[in-house]
Amino acid sequence: MDDSRFIHTGKEVDKASQSVVPPVYRATTYHQADPWNPPRFDYARSGNPTREALEEAMAGLEHGARGFAFASGMAALTAAFLLFSAGDHLIVTRDCQGGTQRVLRGIFSRFGLEVSYCDTDDLDALKATLRPNTKAILVENFSNPFLRVTDIGLVSEWAHQHQLLVMVDNTFITPYLQQPLDLGADLVIHSATKMISGHSDVTAGVAVARQADLGQRLYFIQNATGIALPPEDSYWAFRGLKTLPVRMERAESSAQKLAEALDALPEVTRVYYPGLPAHPGHETAVRTVRGFGQMLTFRLENPAWVRAMIPHLKFTMVGAGFGGTETIVSLPEKHCHAALTPDERTDRFITPDVVRVSVGLEDAKDIVEEFVTAIQAAARD
Ligand SMILES: *Cc1c(COP(=O)(O)O)cnc(C)c1O
Repeated sequence: MDDSRFIHTGKEVDKASQSVVPPVYRATTYHQADPWNPPRFDYARSGNPTREALEEAMAGLEHGARGFAFASGMAALTAAFLLFSAGDHLIVTRDCQGGTQRVLRGIFSRFGLEVSYCDTDDLDALKATLRPNTKAILVENFSNPFLRVTDIGLVSEWAHQHQLLVMVDNTFITPYLQQPLDLGADLVIHSATKMISGHSDVTAGVAVARQADLGQRLYFIQNATGIALPPEDSYWAFRGLKTLPVRMERAESSAQKLAEALDALPEVTRVYYPGLPAHPGHETAVRTVRGFGQMLTFRLENPAWVRAMIPHLKFTMVGAGFGGTETIVSLPEKHCHAALTPDERTDRFITPDVVRVSVGLEDAKDIVEEFVTAIQAAARD
Protein backbone atom coordinates (compact mmCIF):
# COMPACT_ATOMS: atom_id res chain seq x y z
CA MET A 1 0.00 0.00 0.00
CA ASP A 2 2.90 2.33 0.63
CA ASP A 3 3.47 3.03 -3.06
CA SER A 4 -0.21 3.71 -3.70
CA ARG A 5 0.07 6.51 -1.16
CA PHE A 6 2.12 8.50 -3.67
CA ILE A 7 -1.14 8.79 -5.60
CA HIS A 8 -3.74 8.56 -2.85
CA THR A 9 -2.32 11.11 -0.45
CA GLY A 10 -5.53 11.84 1.43
CA LYS A 11 -5.70 15.36 0.01
CA GLU A 12 -6.18 14.54 -3.65
CA VAL A 13 -9.91 15.30 -3.66
CA ASP A 14 -10.81 18.91 -2.93
CA LYS A 15 -13.52 19.01 -0.27
CA ALA A 16 -15.21 22.12 -1.66
CA SER A 17 -15.43 21.13 -5.35
CA GLN A 18 -14.73 17.35 -5.42
CA SER A 19 -12.06 17.97 -8.05
CA VAL A 20 -9.60 15.07 -8.22
CA VAL A 21 -6.59 17.34 -7.79
CA PRO A 22 -6.17 20.13 -5.23
CA PRO A 23 -6.99 23.58 -6.60
CA VAL A 24 -4.35 26.28 -6.53
CA TYR A 25 -5.49 28.75 -3.90
CA ARG A 26 -4.05 32.16 -4.67
CA ALA A 27 -5.73 34.21 -1.91
CA THR A 28 -3.36 35.97 0.46
CA THR A 29 -6.07 36.59 3.06
CA TYR A 30 -9.27 34.93 4.23
CA HIS A 31 -12.50 36.47 5.39
CA GLN A 32 -13.00 36.17 9.13
CA ALA A 33 -16.74 36.44 9.71
CA ASP A 34 -16.05 35.81 13.40
CA PRO A 35 -12.50 36.99 14.25
CA TRP A 36 -12.82 35.42 17.75
CA ASN A 37 -13.23 32.03 16.05
CA PRO A 38 -10.84 32.44 13.11
CA PRO A 39 -11.07 30.06 10.15
CA ARG A 40 -8.46 27.34 9.52
CA PHE A 41 -6.55 29.60 7.11
CA ASP A 42 -6.06 33.30 7.77
CA TYR A 43 -3.04 34.58 5.84
CA ALA A 44 -1.03 32.99 3.01
CA ARG A 45 2.40 33.13 4.66
CA SER A 46 0.94 31.31 7.65
CA GLY A 47 -0.96 28.65 5.74
CA ASN A 48 -2.24 27.79 2.28
CA PRO A 49 -4.44 24.84 1.30
CA THR A 50 -2.41 23.94 -1.81
CA ARG A 51 0.84 24.02 0.13
CA GLU A 52 -0.82 22.00 2.87
CA ALA A 53 -1.75 19.28 0.37
CA LEU A 54 1.94 18.86 -0.47
CA GLU A 55 3.02 19.14 3.16
CA GLU A 56 0.58 16.51 4.37
CA ALA A 57 1.43 14.18 1.48
CA MET A 58 5.14 14.45 2.27
CA ALA A 59 4.57 13.97 6.01
CA GLY A 60 2.59 10.82 5.20
CA LEU A 61 5.17 9.44 2.77
CA GLU A 62 8.06 10.10 5.15
CA HIS A 63 6.09 8.69 8.13
CA GLY A 64 6.44 11.95 10.06
CA ALA A 65 4.10 14.04 12.21
CA ARG A 66 4.35 17.28 10.21
CA GLY A 67 5.72 18.42 6.87
CA PHE A 68 6.61 21.89 5.65
CA ALA A 69 7.24 23.12 2.13
CA PHE A 70 9.83 25.79 1.45
CA ALA A 71 10.84 28.00 -1.45
CA SER A 72 13.77 25.70 -2.31
CA GLY A 73 15.88 22.90 -0.92
CA MET A 74 18.21 25.58 0.44
CA ALA A 75 15.27 27.31 2.15
CA ALA A 76 14.33 23.99 3.81
CA LEU A 77 17.93 23.50 4.97
CA THR A 78 18.06 27.14 6.15
CA ALA A 79 14.91 26.54 8.22
CA ALA A 80 16.59 23.49 9.75
CA PHE A 81 19.76 25.47 10.57
CA LEU A 82 17.61 28.20 12.18
CA LEU A 83 16.68 25.65 14.86
CA PHE A 84 20.15 26.26 16.35
CA SER A 85 21.80 29.11 18.23
CA ALA A 86 25.18 30.82 18.43
CA GLY A 87 27.74 28.50 19.98
CA ASP A 88 26.03 25.30 18.83
CA HIS A 89 28.06 22.82 16.81
CA LEU A 90 26.81 20.71 13.90
CA ILE A 91 28.35 17.66 12.24
CA VAL A 92 27.67 17.50 8.50
CA THR A 93 28.45 14.84 5.87
CA ARG A 94 31.74 15.81 4.25
CA ASP A 95 30.76 15.36 0.61
CA CYS A 96 27.45 17.13 0.78
CA GLN A 97 25.89 19.47 -1.73
CA GLY A 98 27.89 22.66 -2.36
CA GLY A 99 25.04 25.02 -1.43
CA THR A 100 24.79 23.50 2.06
CA GLN A 101 28.45 24.27 2.67
CA ARG A 102 28.06 27.77 1.21
CA VAL A 103 25.18 28.80 3.49
CA LEU A 104 26.95 27.39 6.56
CA ARG A 105 30.27 29.03 5.72
CA GLY A 106 28.93 32.33 4.35
CA ILE A 107 25.95 33.02 6.62
CA PHE A 108 25.50 30.77 9.65
CA SER A 109 29.16 31.07 10.67
CA ARG A 110 28.51 34.82 11.14
CA PHE A 111 25.81 33.91 13.67
CA GLY A 112 28.17 31.67 15.61
CA LEU A 113 27.07 28.25 14.36
CA GLU A 114 30.08 25.91 14.34
CA VAL A 115 30.34 23.13 11.76
CA SER A 116 32.56 20.08 11.30
CA TYR A 117 32.50 17.95 8.17
CA CYS A 118 32.87 14.24 8.57
CA ASP A 119 32.33 11.03 6.59
CA THR A 120 29.10 10.07 8.31
CA ASP A 121 29.36 6.50 7.03
CA ASP A 122 32.35 6.07 9.36
CA LEU A 123 31.17 5.78 12.98
CA ASP A 124 34.70 6.13 14.41
CA ALA A 125 35.19 9.37 12.48
CA LEU A 126 31.84 10.59 13.81
CA LYS A 127 32.78 9.81 17.40
CA ALA A 128 36.01 11.79 16.98
CA THR A 129 34.07 14.82 15.71
CA LEU A 130 31.75 15.07 18.74
CA ARG A 131 32.23 18.15 20.95
CA PRO A 132 30.55 19.18 24.20
CA ASN A 133 28.48 21.75 22.24
CA THR A 134 27.46 19.41 19.39
CA LYS A 135 23.70 19.67 18.98
CA ALA A 136 22.93 17.85 15.73
CA ILE A 137 24.13 15.87 12.80
CA LEU A 138 23.11 16.45 9.20
CA VAL A 139 23.56 13.36 7.06
CA GLU A 140 23.33 13.66 3.31
CA ASN A 141 22.41 10.25 1.99
CA PHE A 142 23.62 9.15 -0.50
CA SER A 143 26.44 11.63 -0.40
CA ASN A 144 27.17 13.98 -3.28
CA PRO A 145 29.01 13.31 -5.53
CA PHE A 146 30.53 10.00 -4.36
CA LEU A 147 27.34 8.22 -3.25
CA ARG A 148 28.68 7.17 0.14
CA VAL A 149 25.98 5.33 2.04
CA THR A 150 25.29 6.17 5.69
CA ASP A 151 23.52 3.65 7.90
CA ILE A 152 20.87 6.00 9.31
CA GLY A 153 19.80 3.54 12.04
CA LEU A 154 23.35 3.13 13.33
CA VAL A 155 24.11 6.86 13.25
CA SER A 156 20.78 7.74 14.91
CA GLU A 157 21.40 5.30 17.74
CA TRP A 158 24.83 6.80 18.42
CA ALA A 159 23.58 10.38 18.02
CA HIS A 160 20.68 9.91 20.39
CA GLN A 161 23.05 8.60 23.08
CA HIS A 162 24.54 12.10 22.92
CA GLN A 163 21.18 13.94 22.68
CA LEU A 164 21.88 15.07 19.12
CA LEU A 165 19.14 15.90 16.68
CA VAL A 166 19.45 13.68 13.58
CA MET A 167 18.69 15.45 10.31
CA VAL A 168 18.83 13.66 6.96
CA ASP A 169 18.98 15.31 3.55
CA ASN A 170 17.15 12.56 1.69
CA THR A 171 17.12 14.25 -1.73
CA PHE A 172 19.06 11.51 -3.56
CA ILE A 173 17.10 8.63 -2.05
CA THR A 174 13.54 10.02 -1.88
CA PRO A 175 10.72 8.56 0.24
CA TYR A 176 10.28 5.91 -2.46
CA LEU A 177 13.51 4.20 -1.40
CA GLN A 178 13.77 4.94 2.31
CA GLN A 179 12.01 6.59 5.26
CA PRO A 180 14.85 7.83 7.50
CA LEU A 181 12.37 8.73 10.28
CA ASP A 182 11.54 5.02 10.65
CA LEU A 183 15.25 4.35 11.16
CA GLY A 184 15.54 6.89 13.98
CA ALA A 185 16.11 10.25 12.27
CA ASP A 186 14.26 13.26 13.69
CA LEU A 187 14.02 15.44 10.60
CA VAL A 188 14.10 14.72 6.88
CA ILE A 189 14.91 17.41 4.34
CA HIS A 190 14.46 17.37 0.57
CA SER A 191 15.28 19.49 -2.37
CA ALA A 192 11.97 18.76 -4.10
CA THR A 193 13.50 20.54 -7.11
CA LYS A 194 15.01 17.16 -7.98
CA MET A 195 13.28 13.76 -8.12
CA ILE A 196 10.11 14.80 -6.28
CA SER A 197 9.09 17.42 -8.84
CA GLY A 198 10.92 15.37 -11.42
CA HIS A 199 10.67 17.48 -14.56
CA SER A 200 13.35 20.16 -14.16
CA ASP A 201 10.69 22.86 -13.89
CA VAL A 202 10.07 23.55 -10.17
CA THR A 203 12.24 24.89 -7.35
CA ALA A 204 10.99 23.59 -4.00
CA GLY A 205 12.06 22.18 -0.66
CA VAL A 206 10.42 20.09 2.05
CA ALA A 207 11.18 19.26 5.67
CA VAL A 208 9.34 16.57 7.64
CA ALA A 209 9.60 16.19 11.43
CA ARG A 210 9.02 12.86 13.15
CA GLN A 211 7.54 14.51 16.21
CA ALA A 212 4.94 17.23 16.56
CA ASP A 213 6.98 19.44 18.89
CA LEU A 214 9.87 19.70 16.44
CA GLY A 215 7.24 20.29 13.74
CA GLN A 216 5.88 23.19 15.76
CA ARG A 217 9.33 24.79 15.98
CA LEU A 218 9.74 24.43 12.21
CA TYR A 219 6.31 25.90 11.62
CA PHE A 220 7.32 28.91 13.70
CA ILE A 221 10.42 29.36 11.49
CA GLN A 222 8.45 28.90 8.25
CA ASN A 223 5.86 31.46 9.28
CA ALA A 224 8.23 33.92 10.95
CA THR A 225 10.73 34.05 8.08
CA GLY A 226 8.29 33.78 5.17
CA ILE A 227 10.38 31.25 3.22
CA ALA A 228 7.46 28.93 2.44
CA LEU A 229 6.71 27.55 -1.02
CA PRO A 230 4.23 29.54 -3.16
CA PRO A 231 0.92 27.85 -4.10
CA GLU A 232 1.64 27.30 -7.81
CA ASP A 233 4.94 25.54 -7.11
CA SER A 234 3.34 23.58 -4.29
CA TYR A 235 0.89 22.24 -6.83
CA TRP A 236 3.63 21.19 -9.28
CA ALA A 237 5.66 19.47 -6.58
CA PHE A 238 2.52 17.65 -5.37
CA ARG A 239 1.85 16.57 -8.95
CA GLY A 240 5.40 15.24 -9.30
CA LEU A 241 4.99 12.98 -6.27
CA LYS A 242 2.43 10.83 -8.04
CA THR A 243 4.86 9.54 -10.64
CA LEU A 244 7.89 9.36 -8.35
CA PRO A 245 7.82 5.56 -7.95
CA VAL A 246 7.52 4.82 -11.69
CA ARG A 247 10.19 7.36 -12.59
CA MET A 248 12.58 6.13 -9.90
CA GLU A 249 12.10 2.51 -10.87
CA ARG A 250 12.84 3.10 -14.53
CA ALA A 251 15.77 5.45 -13.95
CA GLU A 252 17.29 3.15 -11.37
CA SER A 253 17.18 0.16 -13.65
CA SER A 254 18.97 2.18 -16.36
CA ALA A 255 21.47 3.54 -13.82
CA GLN A 256 22.47 0.00 -12.87
CA LYS A 257 23.05 -0.86 -16.55
CA LEU A 258 25.02 2.33 -17.14
CA ALA A 259 27.14 1.76 -14.01
CA GLU A 260 28.00 -1.76 -15.17
CA ALA A 261 28.82 -0.60 -18.71
CA LEU A 262 31.05 2.22 -17.44
CA ASP A 263 32.76 -0.12 -15.02
CA ALA A 264 33.79 -2.30 -17.96
CA LEU A 265 35.41 0.58 -19.90
CA PRO A 266 39.21 0.86 -19.64
CA GLU A 267 38.92 4.67 -19.99
CA VAL A 268 36.90 4.86 -16.75
CA THR A 269 39.06 4.55 -13.65
CA ARG A 270 36.30 4.45 -11.07
CA VAL A 271 32.51 4.20 -10.95
CA TYR A 272 30.64 5.26 -7.81
CA TYR A 273 27.22 3.62 -7.70
CA PRO A 274 25.76 1.84 -4.65
CA GLY A 275 24.37 -0.89 -6.91
CA LEU A 276 27.86 -2.12 -7.81
CA PRO A 277 29.03 -4.85 -5.39
CA ALA A 278 32.50 -3.23 -5.21
CA HIS A 279 31.07 0.12 -4.05
CA PRO A 280 32.06 0.71 -0.40
CA GLY A 281 28.45 1.45 0.56
CA HIS A 282 26.89 -1.47 -1.34
CA GLU A 283 26.35 -3.68 1.67
CA THR A 284 24.84 -0.85 3.76
CA ALA A 285 22.58 0.11 0.85
CA VAL A 286 21.37 -3.47 0.43
CA ARG A 287 20.62 -3.67 4.15
CA THR A 288 19.01 -0.26 4.68
CA VAL A 289 17.71 1.16 1.38
CA ARG A 290 15.16 -0.32 -0.98
CA GLY A 291 17.20 0.51 -4.10
CA PHE A 292 20.27 2.26 -5.37
CA GLY A 293 18.80 5.35 -7.02
CA GLN A 294 19.40 7.12 -10.29
CA MET A 295 22.62 9.01 -9.54
CA LEU A 296 26.10 7.79 -10.34
CA THR A 297 29.54 9.34 -10.56
CA PHE A 298 32.62 8.24 -12.48
CA ARG A 299 36.21 9.29 -13.06
CA LEU A 300 37.91 9.30 -16.44
CA GLU A 301 41.55 8.25 -16.72
CA ASN A 302 42.47 11.52 -18.43
CA PRO A 303 40.71 14.66 -17.11
CA ALA A 304 40.96 16.21 -20.60
CA TRP A 305 38.54 13.55 -21.83
CA VAL A 306 35.76 15.14 -19.74
CA ARG A 307 35.77 18.21 -21.95
CA ALA A 308 36.29 16.11 -25.08
CA MET A 309 33.35 13.85 -24.19
CA ILE A 310 30.74 16.60 -24.04
CA PRO A 311 30.41 17.37 -27.77
CA HIS A 312 29.90 13.65 -28.40
CA LEU A 313 26.83 13.46 -26.11
CA LYS A 314 23.77 13.41 -28.36
CA PHE A 315 20.79 13.98 -26.04
CA THR A 316 22.29 14.24 -22.58
CA MET A 317 22.00 17.69 -21.00
CA VAL A 318 25.02 19.21 -19.30
CA GLY A 319 24.56 21.44 -16.27
CA ALA A 320 23.56 21.75 -12.65
CA GLY A 321 20.61 19.89 -11.20
CA PHE A 322 19.33 16.35 -11.45
CA GLY A 323 16.31 14.14 -11.03
CA GLY A 324 14.52 15.29 -14.20
CA THR A 325 13.18 13.16 -17.03
CA GLU A 326 16.28 13.86 -19.13
CA THR A 327 19.73 12.46 -18.45
CA ILE A 328 21.93 15.24 -17.02
CA VAL A 329 25.69 15.30 -16.70
CA SER A 330 27.16 17.59 -14.03
CA LEU A 331 30.82 18.37 -13.55
CA PRO A 332 31.04 18.73 -9.75
CA GLU A 333 33.82 21.29 -10.04
CA LYS A 334 31.70 23.52 -12.29
CA HIS A 335 28.20 22.73 -11.07
CA CYS A 336 27.07 21.08 -7.83
CA HIS A 337 30.33 21.90 -5.98
CA ALA A 338 31.22 25.21 -7.62
CA ALA A 339 30.24 26.96 -4.37
CA LEU A 340 33.16 25.30 -2.57
CA THR A 341 36.56 26.93 -2.19
CA PRO A 342 39.40 25.19 -4.12
CA ASP A 343 40.71 23.82 -0.80
CA GLU A 344 37.30 22.44 0.13
CA ARG A 345 37.11 20.71 -3.25
CA THR A 346 40.59 19.18 -2.87
CA ASP A 347 39.68 18.00 0.62
CA ARG A 348 36.69 16.20 -0.90
CA PHE A 349 38.59 14.64 -3.85
CA ILE A 350 36.56 16.72 -6.30
CA THR A 351 38.97 16.97 -9.20
CA PRO A 352 38.48 17.70 -12.94
CA ASP A 353 38.25 13.99 -13.84
CA VAL A 354 34.93 13.60 -11.96
CA VAL A 355 31.62 13.36 -13.83
CA ARG A 356 28.22 12.96 -12.15
CA VAL A 357 25.25 11.54 -14.03
CA SER A 358 21.55 11.85 -13.25
CA VAL A 359 20.12 8.99 -15.26
CA GLY A 360 16.91 10.00 -17.01
CA LEU A 361 13.93 8.20 -18.46
CA GLU A 362 15.24 7.66 -21.99
CA ASP A 363 15.67 4.11 -23.22
CA ALA A 364 18.34 2.32 -21.14
CA LYS A 365 19.99 1.07 -24.34
CA ASP A 366 20.29 4.64 -25.65
CA ILE A 367 21.72 5.92 -22.37
CA VAL A 368 24.40 3.22 -22.26
CA GLU A 369 25.30 3.73 -25.91
CA GLU A 370 25.39 7.50 -25.41
CA PHE A 371 28.08 7.33 -22.72
CA VAL A 372 30.14 4.45 -24.08
CA THR A 373 30.33 6.09 -27.53
CA ALA A 374 31.11 9.57 -26.17
CA ILE A 375 33.85 8.34 -23.79
CA GLN A 376 35.49 6.19 -26.47
CA ALA A 377 35.35 9.08 -28.95
CA ALA A 378 36.82 11.47 -26.35
CA ALA A 379 39.74 9.11 -25.71
CA ARG A 380 40.37 8.87 -29.50
CA ASP A 381 40.20 12.65 -30.19
C1 LIG B 1 19.88 20.54 -4.92
C2 LIG B 1 20.12 20.11 -3.53
C3 LIG B 1 19.87 20.97 -2.47
C4 LIG B 1 19.43 22.40 -2.69
O1 LIG B 1 18.18 22.42 -3.26
P1 LIG B 1 17.60 23.66 -4.13
O2 LIG B 1 16.22 23.24 -4.40
O3 LIG B 1 18.49 23.78 -5.32
O4 LIG B 1 17.71 24.86 -3.26
C5 LIG B 1 20.04 20.48 -1.19
N1 LIG B 1 20.48 19.22 -0.96
C6 LIG B 1 20.75 18.38 -1.96
C7 LIG B 1 21.22 17.01 -1.66
C8 LIG B 1 20.59 18.80 -3.28
O5 LIG B 1 20.87 17.96 -4.26
